Amino acid sequence: MSSPPAAQLVLGAIADDFTGATDLANNLVRSGMRTLQVIGVPEDDLALTDVDAVVVALKSRSCPVDDAIGDSLAALEWLKARGARQIFFKYCSTFDSTDDGNIGPVADALLERLRATQQEHLRATHTEQSGSDQTVMVPAFPINGRTVYQGHLFVGDRLLNDSGMQHHPLNPMQDADLVRVLARQTPHGVGLLNRATLARGAEAARGRLAELREAGVRHVICDTLDEGDLDVIAAAVVDLALVTGGSGLGQALPAEYRKKGWLAPVEHPGRLMPSHGAALVLSGSCSRATLGQVEHFLARHEGMALDPLALAQSDAPIEEALAFARARLTAADGPVLIYASAAPQAVEAAQASLGAARAGELVERALATIARTLVAEGVGRLLVAGGETSGAVVSALGVGELRIGEQIDPGVPWTQTRVAGREAPLSLALKSGNFGGVDFFTRAFTVLSEQTNQSAGQQTTQQRTQQRNQGEEGA
Ligand code: ADP
Repeated sequence: MSSPPAAQLVLGAIADDFTGATDLANNLVRSGMRTLQVIGVPEDDLALTDVDAVVVALKSRSCPVDDAIGDSLAALEWLKARGARQIFFKYCSTFDSTDDGNIGPVADALLERLRATQQEHLRATHTEQSGSDQTVMVPAFPINGRTVYQGHLFVGDRLLNDSGMQHHPLNPMQDADLVRVLARQTPHGVGLLNRATLARGAEAARGRLAELREAGVRHVICDTLDEGDLDVIAAAVVDLALVTGGSGLGQALPAEYRKKGWLAPVEHPGRLMPSHGAALVLSGSCSRATLGQVEHFLARHEGMALDPLALAQSDAPIEEALAFARARLTAADGPVLIYASAAPQAVEAAQASLGAARAGELVERALATIARTLVAEGVGRLLVAGGETSGAVVSALGVGELRIGEQIDPGVPWTQTRVAGREAPLSLALKSGNFGGVDFFTRAFTVLSEQTNQSAGQQTTQQRTQQRNQGEEGA
């Protein structure tokens, strides 16, 4: 096996689920970092050209704690081997976890491994990192209504345990006091960096962290009311080996990396290659926002519905959908839609007859087969609606990494990836159910062509600059 390519990452992130990883990656790009999202721990020989941050998407949120620790440490090792200056453990802004974990135990395992390698790392990279004996917990994402005050997490104007999250099927959050929640997950000290200290600025926040460190406090929950607090926290924690939190902190950190000279300003961090090929939308989401997007699309363009009851009989509906798409998919035409999205009564009827799991599997398998077949036949721009549906499509296509482009709507960027048997990159947008405006299925493609035209323009400018520089060098 070849040795790792020589590239130094600024930020290495470990995300406990796929859409959370995309959310963080999207924020990093928006704040000026060229970002790659990888699905699971990648191969050793993955090339990292023009990449400042890598976000490793794991499925470690609700799995057994030992698996979560093992996968997170494997990701850490990969990222540190690429020189990542800071590690970011990303979890949900609603702190999704149970008394068994996985946030506390994973953070402990990452810190312990970082501490064990710190001396060696300091010698090798000459960084100024001070802290691998303490980390911060910053779940807040104020723009999405997730704030923390006196260590208590709010969703909008409700405490976490009164926000609906107390009924979550996997991680019911029945306590909003994060100091208390985390103390049940770790044998180490948990403390609070409160708003009153943040209001006095980064120096005061650093002082408080040092005091807590002296007192043996390993994990520090951070209050956060607004973006200004995130900026203060980012300034106070940029030298920690490990930070943890939601994607809000990811938006604030890059400015600090630039101040330290780790990160050069980049004009278009979300630049993608020009995209080629026909445009397809596959929708397996039945969320309210998606149903509105399907309706809006069908009022203007053609689409074909897939019925799980018919899919349970035979694969004929898949063949019909492929024939429908082939007749319409040419690079010049607008996007074609194939959807299983249906109103609640229809979903309930399918589930009553087939069972919810089987209905879901039939739809996911059909959409994944359609994606694989049509991408092999020339679809080059693919939008998928639905979190589970996206997972099924991504694994059918064998996608390993995604270059993150610019945002279409909050939380949903265009991405680009390489798939086997396709020369040009595939442009891929993966939308979880409730995201996106009503015209998302059409506007996404307009945003993509604007982005890639801009890229083409920028490449030309770059080429011109390069030529000029070469001319000057030659002179
Ligand atoms: P979201 O992000 O909106 O939750 P997901 O793709 O995660 O969307 O989940 C939607 C689930 O519903 C998928 O498992 C999908 O296969 C299933 N599904 C889609 N259409 C139907 C339908 N008509 N009847 C029953 N299940 C469906």
